Amino acid sequence: MEIGVLRRDGRTDPFFDGTASDRLVIKRCEACDRWFAPDAAGCPECGEEDLGWAQASGAATLVTWTVLPKDPPAFLALVELAEGPWLHARLDGAARADLREGLPLGVAFEHPDEGESYILFRPWTE
Ligand SMILES: [Zn+2]
Repeated sequence: MEIGVLRRDGRTDPFFDGTASDRLVIKRCEACDRWFAPDAAGCPECGEEDLGWAQASGAATLVTWTVLPKDPPAFLALVELAEGPWLHARLDGAARADLREGLPLGVAFEHPDEGESYILFRPWTE
């Protein structure tokens, strides 16, 4: 699936530094012990506007998905990280018949020749 070339915009440097080295780094409010998506602007709990970054486990579950009309079909997923935040990402290695809400997923990393590395999710297998 072609998602275009990703460029960092300054605010997301820690996220892309993470993906470049196979780490999922998202925002975190230490004071509230809560995790947020990489694009979160602040903590709604305490109002902290300067959230830190921390490495998430990469474990997630499938919330919902969209089938993109490609051959073979591609899936764009909305996943819930084990830490709580929801992320949009491509779903890889999944058969359409296997997709269900709550499907365990694990993060994986793509390193394209051009542009930033990015994440995708695959069905979790022990
Ligand atoms: Zn907070």
